[in-house]
Amino acid sequence: MTQIGTEDNPVRVAIVGAGPSGFYAAEHILKDAETHAQVDLFDRLPTPFGLVRGGVAPDHPKIKSVIRVYEKTAAREGFRFFGNVKVGQDIGVEDLERLYHAIVFTVGCETDRRLGIPGEELTGSHAATAFVGWYNAHPDYCDEEFDLSSERAVVIGNGNVAMDVARMLALTDHELRQTDTADHAIEQLDRSNIKEIVVLGRRGPVQAAFTNPEVKELGEMEDADPIVDPSEVELDPASRAFVESDEADKTTRVNVEILAEFAQRRPTGKGKRIVLRFLASPVEIQGDGKVEKIVVGRNELVEEGGALRARDTGEREELECGLVLRSVGYTGIPIEGVPFDEKRGLILNEGGRVLDSHDAGHKVGHYTAGWIKRGPSGVIGTNKKDALETVQHLLADIGSQTLLSPENPEPEAVEALLSERGIRFVSFEDWQAIDQAEVGRGEPHGRPRVKFVRVEEMLETLGEKVSG
Ligand code: NAP
Repeated sequence: MTQIGTEDNPVRVAIVGAGPSGFYAAEHILKDAETHAQVDLFDRLPTPFGLVRGGVAPDHPKIKSVIRVYEKTAAREGFRFFGNVKVGQDIGVEDLERLYHAIVFTVGCETDRRLGIPGEELTGSHAATAFVGWYNAHPDYCDEEFDLSSERAVVIGNGNVAMDVARMLALTDHELRQTDTADHAIEQLDRSNIKEIVVLGRRGPVQAAFTNPEVKELGEMEDADPIVDPSEVELDPASRAFVESDEADKTTRVNVEILAEFAQRRPTGKGKRIVLRFLASPVEIQGDGKVEKIVVGRNELVEEGGALRARDTGEREELECGLVLRSVGYTGIPIEGVPFDEKRGLILNEGGRVLDSHDAGHKVGHYTAGWIKRGPSGVIGTNKKDALETVQHLLADIGSQTLLSPENPEPEAVEALLSERGIRFVSFEDWQAIDQAEVGRGEPHGRPRVKFVRVEEMLETLGEKVSG
C-alpha cells in the first residue's frame, strides 16, 4: 500500500465549516509540515469566518480582529477555500469520502434550543439566533421581520447572546452607524419604539452565564440605563456561601459586584431601560395571533445533584410585550451520513474522532471539532485548543495510516466535480474581492464595511471572477 503523508502522496483533508474551529483545525494540520497535508475548507456561504462574521455583535469589532489569524492560515501552502458549497446538498459526505483521506466536520451549532412552553411559536417570538443573524446580515435571516413597535421587549436567558441582543435593542442610531450592522437592521432599529428591554434569568446573579465585560457594558450605554431591583440581587444562603468560597471564579464574583452596583444606581432618565431580572422563568407566551404578553413564574433555588437549580414557586406575573427573543443556547443540526447524538445535539464523537454509534469504534477518516463536537460553549479561542485535540488524533491516524482510501485524491477532482454539478464555488481570492467591495462601501460613511446581505449580491460583485 502506498504511504500517505509524503511529498508524493500528500494527505488530503476536507474541513466542513469555515468558522473559528474550521480555521484552527486547518492551521494545526498545515503547521505540521511532516504530513505534507493539503486542506480544502468548505462553507455553505460565500463568506468565511462563521460566527465571527455572523454572530459576534457588530459593536464588538475588536473580537473580530481574530480574522487576521485566519487570513494567515488561508495564506499557507496547501490551503484552499470552497465557499458557497453546501455539504449534504451540493456535494455529499460520500462524495468527500471519494476525494479525501480525512474529513473534519466543524459546522457549529446552527439552530436554537427550544423552551417548550405554550406560545413559543406566536408571531413576535423569535430565537435570538435569528435576530443575531438578521442584524449581522446573514443571508439566511435577511428577510426575517421583527416587530419593534411595542414599548417592551423580553429577552429570555442569561448568557452572552442575551447580553448582545439586549444591547443591540438599546443602541442609539449614532452608536449603530459606526458599526457594520446590516443596513436593514439599522433602519428598523432606528424606528424602534422599544423603551424597555427585560432580560429574564431563570436562576440568580451567581449562576448567570454572561461574562464581566458584557454585563458591565450595559451600564455604559449612550441612551440606556441598567435597572436591577436590589431585592433580586440579594443572594440566597447557598449562592452566598458559594460566591464566598474558593470554588467561585473571578467572573462570578465580579458579575455579582457589577449587578449590585447597578442595583444602587438611580435611573438617569436615559431613553431606554435594560431591566435585568433574576429567578424568573417564562411560563407561557400569550397573544391573539401575535405576542402580547408573557407569563413569568417566580423561581427559588434548590440544591440538586451538587448544583443549584431553579424550582417554580407557583407565583406568577404578567408582562405586556410585543417581542420575545429566546436566548437559551444553540444546538447542532445533523448532517446526512454523519452519526449524530440526538440527546446532546452533537456529532457522536470521542475526543474529535467520529464514532459509528455509541458502542462502536471510530468511523475511520471522520473527525469533528468546535461546537458540533463539544457543545455551544466557551469563547472563540476555546476552539483553538479543541481543534488541536482533534488534529492530534488525526495526525496519529496518519501515522498509523488509518485513513479513508479515496478513489480520486487529486486536488483537481474537487473542482471538476463542483463544475460538473454547476456549483459556483467561491475561492479565498474571490472572498477577498467581496471583502474589499464591502469595505469600500463602508468607507464614505466611516464604517468598517457595509455587508452584502444576499448570496446573489456577493456573486454579482465577483462578476467574471467567480470560479466554476
Ligand atoms: P449560554 O452561555 O449557554 O447561556 C444560555 C442561557 O440560557 C443560560 O443563562 C441558561 O440558564 C439559560 N437557559 C437555558 N434553558 C433555559 C430555559 N428553559 N429557561 C430559561 N433560561 C434558560 O449560551 P449563549 O448565550 O447562547 O452563548 C453561547 C456561547 O457563546 C457561550 O459560551 C457564550 O459565552 C459565547 N458568546 C460569547 C460572547 C462574547 O464573548 N462576547 C458573545 C456571545 C456568545 P441556566 O444557566 O440556568 O441553564
